[in-house]
Amino acid sequence: MSGSKSRREAVTAATNYKEAGVPLDYKESPAASLFGTNVFGLSTMKATLPKEAFRSVKRTIETGSTLDPRVADVVAAAMKAWALGKGATHYAHVFYPLTGLSAAKQDSFLSPDGEGGAITEFAGKTLVQGESDASSFPNGGIRATSEARGYTAWDVTSPAYLLETTNGTTLCIPTAFVSWTGEALDKKTPLLRSGQALNTQVTRILKLFGHEKPGMVVSYAGAEQEYFLIDKHFFYARPDLLNAGRALFGAKPPKGQEFEDHYFGVIPERVIAFMMDSDRELFKLGVPVKTRHNEVAPGQFEVAPVFESANIASDHQQMVMIMLRRVAEKHGLVCLLHEKPFAGVNGSGKHVNYSFGNATEGNLLDPGETPHENAQFLVFCGAVIRAVHKYAGLLRAVIATASNDHRLGANEAPPAIISIFLGEQLADVFEQIRSGGAKSSKMGGTLEIGVDALPKLPRDAGDRNRTSPFAFTGNRFEFRAVGSSQSIADPLVALNTAIAESCDAIATKLEAAVTSGKKLNAAIQEVLAEIITQHGAVVFDGNGYSAEWHAEAEKRGLPNYKTAVDALPVLQQKDVLALFDKYKVLSPREVHSRYETYLEHYNKSVNVEANLTTKIAKTIILPAALHYQRELAEGATAVKAAGFTPETTVLKQVTDLIGKLQGGLAGLESATSHHGADGALAEAKHFCSSVLPAMLKVREAADGLEAVVDDDLWPLPTFQEILFIK
Ligand code: ADP
Ligand code: MG
Repeated sequence: MSGSKSRREAVTAATNYKEAGVPLDYKESPAASLFGTNVFGLSTMKATLPKEAFRSVKRTIETGSTLDPRVADVVAAAMKAWALGKGATHYAHVFYPLTGLSAAKQDSFLSPDGEGGAITEFAGKTLVQGESDASSFPNGGIRATSEARGYTAWDVTSPAYLLETTNGTTLCIPTAFVSWTGEALDKKTPLLRSGQALNTQVTRILKLFGHEKPGMVVSYAGAEQEYFLIDKHFFYARPDLLNAGRALFGAKPPKGQEFEDHYFGVIPERVIAFMMDSDRELFKLGVPVKTRHNEVAPGQFEVAPVFESANIASDHQQMVMIMLRRVAEKHGLVCLLHEKPFAGVNGSGKHVNYSFGNATEGNLLDPGETPHENAQFLVFCGAVIRAVHKYAGLLRAVIATASNDHRLGANEAPPAIISIFLGEQLADVFEQIRSGGAKSSKMGGTLEIGVDALPKLPRDAGDRNRTSPFAFTGNRFEFRAVGSSQSIADPLVALNTAIAESCDAIATKLEAAVTSGKKLNAAIQEVLAEIITQHGAVVFDGNGYSAEWHAEAEKRGLPNYKTAVDALPVLQQKDVLALFDKYKVLSPREVHSRYETYLEHYNKSVNVEANLTTKIAKTIILPAALHYQRELAEGATAVKAAGFTPETTVLKQVTDLIGKLQGGLAGLESATSHHGADGALAEAKHFCSSVLPAMLKVREAADGLEAVVDDDLWPLPTFQEILFIK
């Protein structure tokens, strides 16, 4: 059997790799000296730019103003000299298309000089704007192929950097990607726009609190990336992992994560080497990776950087995903970013820690010390509660992918119901505000805003509710339902915009009250009481995994979009379109293009998986099962000929399962041959309700066979092997 041969070879190769030891030794050059060495950031600019130009760029970054075009030429010249000096041969405008990946077109610095030679060229206009015939990037109908031109515009707030490969170095310029008509074709453009909306509205509130000239408000994000590492030989022996990023077959391993012996346990040497290496590559790029550890599932790990402004954090998060994959390859490993590579084993998420603030006031979701600071904190906290309640459906929609569906609600990740965990003390504070300062509170008193201090809020990871999709963790919120493979831009855009809308509503009320002579603190008390009365339903501190919560959430009127196909149409709801339109984050056309693109992506993913399921079942699993069946049958005949009664239970089991497998395949083929003619949503519904269940039927039979077929004949590396040999 060739199949089982490749499985054996994979096991042997992976085992040998393990025994070959760790190839790296980093004791000599400490990582600290590497940080940011490949980034054209503020310190490099300060050292290389004329004073005036540097001040202009700095102003642009700090205030979000537009860059003077004359300055662009100066910056381009300095950037080119710096990049060439470090061995760069090409430059690339990097952008973030709706696929969620990073994309770039590389151009050489060399231009012909007209005399048979070449000169290096890189002008300001080249730096600031690139043109990309990117007609094959998904645009959901915004761009006809005839007007395929898209433009990339330098995002001055995100520094350029050098990407090194074995065969050369490229200067990468982070850009926004827009169409000929100026419509957003990417994930960065709305993120920048939503940041502006947040700044405007939060600033209004800060002014009410007496901050005359508050600095520019930005949101901050810190994303914890979970991932699996497996030996590359297993990856190449599994067409499903190779093509779909997840195992479409495979019985649950006899030993899984039940002992939790992997969680925070000793990291294997080979993995440590990988982590050291990827950390160093990320350090060079200025990505402040800090935490790394084992996760719950065997073979699962996590890396988290120190939080940064949302726009930079989002760019850096893309680099993290790229580097994890790339460095893994160097170590003979493959990094799986899929949300659920192995059924029956915990999946991967990407917790997005979120807050907002500025240079003058710091983090505005930090409770602070004085009653005055507390009042301000409570207002912003109220804004978040209101936003998450009003736009719970939207927050669900921005994490809706075919792959995240396998993880959400599976007793390892938060349910598809979006709720907020505040923690006991803070929930109690809002309860007091709701009841107008009831005497029977846990603090044993009343809380008067602006007068009383808050109780000390715990900032301890142990105190957190792990089952909540959106948890307050002492000085930030943690959006825990985000998928491990997705860009964090969409969740950040949704949060920025929804919170901007809340701050707008709150500011409008407070401004009116103050103008009419009301005391600010009294007005706040009223506004917050109203918020918690109208939106308190979203606050839930109990067990989000429980069945009772599903019933309770329904009573509270919270949406429960179980699948991506249920959730994505939220992007077409009137209130969502109005929200994005009002704050000039995305026009209805731009939102629609996203909706179409994400549906299409869903359909393509499931379609690929369905085709793979058929192919693997027919050409790899069925032959192995038939082989075993024949062996058993021949054996039975021989036993009978020798005058004994053959044992036929296994033969019968195998035969039944083969029948089930073939029945499943027929069902899957019939499901996939149906074509919904009524557009992407109808097709997605069909994939979700017919194709996925049909795939599961095939899998059930195949996984049943894995449990009975002679191990020597089984063709695919098992979960046991994939997860534990490294
Ligand atoms: P845990 O696993 O306990 O949640 P980690 O240390 O793995 O904690 O990750 C926490 C993440 O939250 C880090 O990326 C950290 O920088 C980020 N973070 C901390 N404070 C803030 C904040 N104010 N705003 C946004 N992110 C934050
Ligand atoms: Mg963590």
